[in-house]
Amino acid sequence: MTYQVLARKWRPNTFDEVVGQDYVVKALKGALDLEKLPHAFIFSGTRGTGKTTLARILAKAINCSNSKKKSQPCRKCDSCLSIENGSAIDFQEVDAASRRGVEETKELLDSVPYLPTSSPFKIYLLDEIHMLSKESFNSLLKTLEEPPEHVVFLFATTEIDKVPPTVLSRCVQFNLSAMKVDNIKNQLQLIFDEEKIKYDENSLIKLSSLARGSMRDALTLSEKVISFSEGKITEKKVEELMGLPSSELIQSILKSIIGRDSKKLIENIEEVKINFYDPEQILIDLLSLIQEVALSQFDEKADLSDLSIEPQNLQLIYDLGISNLEYFKLSPKPESLLTMTFLKMIAFLPESSKKKSLNTNKDETDFSWPEDFSNLDLTKLTAQFMSHASMIEYHDSEMHFGINQERLNIITENQIKEVEDALSILLKKKLKVSFKPSDLTETPFEFEKIRSQKESKQAEDDLKKDSSLNEMLEKFDGKIKKVSKI
Ligand SMILES: [Zn+2]
Repeated sequence: MTYQVLARKWRPNTFDEVVGQDYVVKALKGALDLEKLPHAFIFSGTRGTGKTTLARILAKAINCSNSKKKSQPCRKCDSCLSIENGSAIDFQEVDAASRRGVEETKELLDSVPYLPTSSPFKIYLLDEIHMLSKESFNSLLKTLEEPPEHVVFLFATTEIDKVPPTVLSRCVQFNLSAMKVDNIKNQLQLIFDEEKIKYDENSLIKLSSLARGSMRDALTLSEKVISFSEGKITEKKVEELMGLPSSELIQSILKSIIGRDSKKLIENIEEVKINFYDPEQILIDLLSLIQEVALSQFDEKADLSDLSIEPQNLQLIYDLGISNLEYFKLSPKPESLLTMTFLKMIAFLPESSKKKSLNTNKDETDFSWPEDFSNLDLTKLTAQFMSHASMIEYHDSEMHFGINQERLNIITENQIKEVEDALSILLKKKLKVSFKPSDLTETPFEFEKIRSQKESKQAEDDLKKDSSLNEMLEKFDGKIKKVSKI
């Protein structure tokens, strides 16, 4: 048997083999079950997402002479086999990019009125249809307006916005999404296992993300790495072959930025220059790493000992990186832009960016009443009540408050529960709260009163020191009058 490249060998032949386009496959199967088949379909999406592959499966399904279920072409009848091996008479595949002129389109459309030779339908697949000239679109539109019963058009395009709306409105439209890294990875794993190709887990992840949403690209890349690797595909081999920076280098760059280590950072940049790495790709890889770190901050098991940074600062350097990414198109010196981006990140990072502790909760020793009253998340009524409470005792998980009898009479169980919850959240432990009558005055209310008195006294003193104001007071025989907030 002759050798077939992986992308070709593993091209899906049935709807069930298509990966990552569940919605489109489901809708196509539905369309096939309709009494009356639509006369035109258009598939859009970035390259390598499977537009023509799906169109070919659809063509087989439409013309299969064997299948009990329309959505499952048999792959055995003459029609299925001839579409798969490219010899079908009633299925014509045209690359619109190379046949975009009106004469060529007319020539193609001339055959439309003739009945199919051996299948129920005559099917035309036009790839890259957006490349057709305006005149070509016009003559195509005439056919689409009144298509003969025995004709089905399948269009594929990477640029749906360049297809005239008049044409679009006569098609059933399917937008194929770029494949998710996970889907590509799982499919690669299946293929490698089946083909008895050895690999390590990280090489799969690398290949899947390099493919940028295209399964075809993933397989073409894999093919290159397989011929380059003896024995086993490793992440390192993928990086070497693709001229990619190692993951260690990207990690080292992030560590240098977080640690504000400019000396190390310069060494990192030297490494980028010596190896002729693409500066834009370095920034893209750094942003991916930042994203990974940000996600792992929510995972308690993740080891972030080297890359610990406060979440808001991580967001900050991510934003700075993303906003500089677009300048690479304009920059005559990408290395300088990369260096400036890193320095900008360091410059904007607050001094104490190193994460001290994610734990913002307080403990027994640094909790104090009434100062910490303002840190409690309480409803208005409960807050009003608690602003008149003073703390009598706090030990282990019990807190005792004092409050005057009158107020004590009106507190509800729900409010006590609310206070317990708010304190438990603040102190990160389950707390039990109790109240008893007391006339102590160390309450948040009193505390606030004293603080505001101090403030206004200070303000008054400051005003009195103001010489120009004094001059005015003297001139107009004025007085400083206290006005309080309502
Ligand atoms: Zn068949």
